[in-house]
Amino acid sequence: MAFMCKKCKKAFRKDMSNYDESDEYCPHCDNHYVIEAKTPQAVLGVEGDDPRIDARMIKDDRVRQDPTRSVFVQDFTDNIG
Ligand SMILES: [Zn+2]
Repeated sequence: MAFMCKKCKKAFRKDMSNYDESDEYCPHCDNHYVIEAKTPQAVLGVEGDDPRIDARMIKDDRVRQDPTRSVFVQDFTDNIG
């Protein structure tokens, strides 16, 4: 994207995909130029966390706890006496 400094009247290019605060200054005279507001800002949709993912993980965790597989369900009566 091309810009023009209003102070030194020099044109320069900026990579908008790699834009940070230091790029708001003119590379020729270090003037803090102002970007004209005619460029519409893209509205990004914010994706929230999907509650179904968490519910599935909790369900899987409970399935592992199978009470019939407990080591205490055994018959030790023959070993006594
Ligand atoms: Zn400048």
